[in-house]
Amino acid sequence: MNKSQVRRYVGYFIIIALAVGVISLSAGILFRRDAYNRTIGILDRANTVTWNILTSTEYDTIDDYINRIAVDDVRITIIRSDGIVVADSQADISKLDNHADRPELLSALNGVPGRSKRFSDSLGENLVYVAMPLVDLSNGSYVIRSAMSVQDIDKALGEILGRIAFTGIITFLALSMLSFLSERRIIAPLADIQKAAEAFSGGNLDYFLSIPGPEDVRVVAETLNDMAEALKYRLNEITKGKNELAAVFSSMMEAVVVLDESLSIRHINRSALKIMELPESDVYGRSLIETFMNSDLQSLAEETLASQSPVERDITFNGDRNLILHAHGTRIPPADDKTTGNAIVLVMNDITRTQHLENMRRDFVANVSHELKTPITNVKGYLETLADGVMDDPETAKRFLAISIRNADRLNAILDDLLSLSRLEQQGGEGLEFEIRPLDDIIGGAFQYCTLKSSDKGIDMRFEGEKNLLASVNTLLMEQALNNLIDNAVKYSNEGAVVTVHIEKNGGMADISVIDEGIGIPAKDLPRIFERFYRVDKARSRELGGTGLGLAIVKHIAIVHRGSVKVNSELGRGSTFTISVPLQ
Ligand code: ADP
Repeated sequence: MNKSQVRRYVGYFIIIALAVGVISLSAGILFRRDAYNRTIGILDRANTVTWNILTSTEYDTIDDYINRIAVDDVRITIIRSDGIVVADSQADISKLDNHADRPELLSALNGVPGRSKRFSDSLGENLVYVAMPLVDLSNGSYVIRSAMSVQDIDKALGEILGRIAFTGIITFLALSMLSFLSERRIIAPLADIQKAAEAFSGGNLDYFLSIPGPEDVRVVAETLNDMAEALKYRLNEITKGKNELAAVFSSMMEAVVVLDESLSIRHINRSALKIMELPESDVYGRSLIETFMNSDLQSLAEETLASQSPVERDITFNGDRNLILHAHGTRIPPADDKTTGNAIVLVMNDITRTQHLENMRRDFVANVSHELKTPITNVKGYLETLADGVMDDPETAKRFLAISIRNADRLNAILDDLLSLSRLEQQGGEGLEFEIRPLDDIIGGAFQYCTLKSSDKGIDMRFEGEKNLLASVNTLLMEQALNNLIDNAVKYSNEGAVVTVHIEKNGGMADISVIDEGIGIPAKDLPRIFERFYRVDKARSRELGGTGLGLAIVKHIAIVHRGSVKVNSELGRGSTFTISVPLQ
């Protein structure tokens, strides 16, 4: 039994005990009053009868006469107005004291019937007295007083009260039993309902309420169970929807950040954390500016908060990684009509690479145009000069034509390199024929090709390293790559220098390095050296017949061989270009 049940039971008991007590008491009082009234009625009638008899009958002494006419249980006394008892049906008048102070006597002498209840010393018990005046009994004022013992009434009252108490106790027990049963039938199921309601509100919707109680309570229980079932279904639906949204949110390629009105982070998806290289744990609740450290992004968020329509802009993050994000901010007003509680969704795309590619494309177009324009302008200029009459001077004409041919060759070389590059890029190695060849063979082929130029400059060409390292190669392309590297090494070396081609095994790869002792490359140019048309010294390259595409071609040839190329260089001391290709 729990505390509230105990409280309830105690309450029932008190109410029932009070009810039974009040009923018993009222019944006792009523009975007593009725019994007394009836006794007084009897005594009144006894007085009247006695008065009639006394006033109409002859008798010797009044005391004897009274003794004769009196009935057993009614005591009749005749008292003189001065209190002297002249007759008594039950007591010896010689022994009776003066009755002048008796209240019933005083009242009767005043003309009002007197009544009194008290203990009689002469009879030794409780009596009820009723007195009425009896005027002119042989020249004097007298009072007739009847008295009756109330012992029987008190006894009967005691018995009745005992019965009432007994009935009260029985009633009390019966009512207690009834309340216990009703507690079990109604209150106990209600307690179960309360328990179930608590379980439901605590989120335990699997709690099942089974109640075999009365119909009404059962209906409530069934309704509660139905409600829990419906809630569970809805909750499941909401959870499912939420999970789906969370999955979409976290798997989005775009960086998504949800901010509250104070521009603190409420949600952030995986892409955003990855792009910004942020640890997930510290981010929630932190401010946008503190987390992203970008004032442009902060002002975009502030504008979004103040604007009705979405705001978008490219945001640049300067730092270790030059990051460009295209940010799109949307304000989400609160669900109700409140003015506060706005949220902001920032969706950001990493456009660093796209932007970089776009810049490269723009540079490339500008470079190609420029590279092609120079020889064409030259050819056009010389041909126009020839047409203008220089033709008549055969020597000059011959020189001009030779220059024009050289420029046309340059144009041709550029276009050849561009075509090679675009083929390599488009094919990506597909459709090319590969054969397994010893790499030193291919290096030998490249040496032959470069002999003329190197011997012109008195360059000492050397080969070092392992022989017979086999790789799957497209011979023409691999020769072209090595030619380009050796050609550069010769071009950018001083006369009489040494150019070494070194080959060695490096894990599963063969590293072919072209090492020169030439002018070297400044460190700042190294990261861009493999870009198309990128040259450290444009004029010098052009003068040496370079197109600025050689290294870009080398890079793509390495890629189609599933390999790579890298450079090490020190300004003024020489460069080492290394192509790595997988060994067979
Ligand atoms: P180019 O036709 O101008 O040689 P490349 O693409 O082959 O074009 O090379 C790009 C630039 O890299 C060159 O202009 C030059 O500045 C630099 N370079 C390439 N190889 C060397 C080298 N061995 N030593 C010094 N600089 C080099």
